[in-house]
Amino acid sequence: MSSKLMASTELQRCEQFVGGQFVPSVSGEYFPLFNPENGQLAAEIAHSTPRDVENAVQVAKRAFKDSRWAAHREVRVSALRALASQLRQNLPILVEAEARVTGRPIREMRAQLGRLPEWYDYFASIAETLEDTVPPFGSGYLNYTRREPLGVVGLLTPWNHPLLILTKKLAPALAAGNAVVIKPSELAPITINMLAELIRDSGIPEGIVNVVHGLGSIAGKALAENPLLGKIDLTGGTPTGRAVAAAAGQNLIKVAAELGGKASLIVFDDVDFEAAVNGAVFAGYIASGQTCVQGARVLVSEKMYDRFATAFVEKVSKLRVGPPLDVRTDVGPLVAERQRDRVLSFIETGVREGATLAYGKAPVPPQGWYVCPTVFTDVTNIMTIAQEEIFGPVVCLLRYRSEEEAISLANGTRYGLAMGIWTNDIRRAHRLATQLEAGVIWINDHHRIGPASPWGGYKDSGVGRENGIDCYKDYTQLKNIIVKTTPDQFDWFDGTAGDKRYS
Ligand code: NAD
Repeated sequence: MSSKLMASTELQRCEQFVGGQFVPSVSGEYFPLFNPENGQLAAEIAHSTPRDVENAVQVAKRAFKDSRWAAHREVRVSALRALASQLRQNLPILVEAEARVTGRPIREMRAQLGRLPEWYDYFASIAETLEDTVPPFGSGYLNYTRREPLGVVGLLTPWNHPLLILTKKLAPALAAGNAVVIKPSELAPITINMLAELIRDSGIPEGIVNVVHGLGSIAGKALAENPLLGKIDLTGGTPTGRAVAAAAGQNLIKVAAELGGKASLIVFDDVDFEAAVNGAVFAGYIASGQTCVQGARVLVSEKMYDRFATAFVEKVSKLRVGPPLDVRTDVGPLVAERQRDRVLSFIETGVREGATLAYGKAPVPPQGWYVCPTVFTDVTNIMTIAQEEIFGPVVCLLRYRSEEEAISLANGTRYGLAMGIWTNDIRRAHRLATQLEAGVIWINDHHRIGPASPWGGYKDSGVGRENGIDCYKDYTQLKNIIVKTTPDQFDWFDGTAGDKRYS
């Protein structure tokens, strides 16, 4: 991997990756990327224009048609396994770079990026083993199906888990034989270019994977609106999801969208108390709260609300806020100044609307975009902080009196990505799991995920699913081939044929 991208002190320049080469945008312009830890200029990122996006899509389309990629699954399987192995070898460099760019603690990035190879291996195995079908049809015919790639797929990704979220899309897209154009978040493009370098060395043909950079409102929009795409797959905020799905609708292409969340944890009074406190603090403050499944709302039985709130605040007060590269750090800076300001303004709103600021005034490092881990108690479901996705280290504790009220509160937001149930009553746990409106339910745990395990939202949290065999299939289109195997002649217009038929 290039030492230029590894180096931490020198100013990095992040170009587009098109046709296997790192190239500037047609405008030759760059925009700045700042270091979350100290606010200093960290890199210059190529400002891709709609012309760059069109060019990347054309390059991808040509590569899709000309290379052996789509037609030869053994080429794809071995390239994806090679990429998994390259990732394993380059993990420490990627971990450090991703911690620097996002501000997330290095311990988190090490745990998360260590899992990336699983996705490439898993989807390689699906490509290798998935069998086509021979649906029942009638005698005298061989009737079979084939799964074929969609062509060029657009991937729009966010900044909070840059490599993991891209991997969840890229691995199935490539395994199924597509070419891709990636537009990563403008706030976290660096490690995506590092992955591109590994892709170049893994046996994936030039032009099959392309990366454009730039703003969502320019490069992202141009990609979403491109009529040559077979599918657009976004992870991002719900307003972006609506815009991207509308553009895809105009071109009648498939869309998958993993969008915002506001996960509730329901904590029952029969629970293993300490495990629930630890689990809820993990759910609330991992990634400094910048994750779509953040346990942003903890619903606690009134029978133990005060005791739980005291223990929760006590645990939060011990979280170590500090620089991302320090292994002792639990909570790093937020990714960008605008994100920090947004979170601080939600905290002001919470106080104004009458919630109790139970914790959140402790000092944080003076430079960089830090926010003190914050706990609100006495929160009611109609408050802004209980309803809107804050995407920062802010957790609301709500009180409920009955199981029915807990369910109604948990379902009482427009989001439905994930929820957690904390109880030792196995019947109650499964009873609730069927009643909660969310795509992922954890029981006595949080934020567990695997490449085979479907991931996606109900309601305003999105459409489609990542992970698993259905995700692979969603990157393909189904073809039905009907073969007449009998030698008998057929001429409808000679007036003798009288069989039942469709037309
Ligand atoms: P975002 O919506 O601002 O941006 C996501 C991507 O879309 C970026 O690459 C951006 O440049 C691009 N984009 C923005 N506007 C666009 C437009 N009009 N047309 C096309 N592309 C556009 O999101 P973000 O701030 O990067 O990420 C945070 C959001 O992502 C949160 O809402 C979070 O909940 C969500 N998220 C969801 C999941 C999930 O699995 N459901 C996972 C992670 C993050």
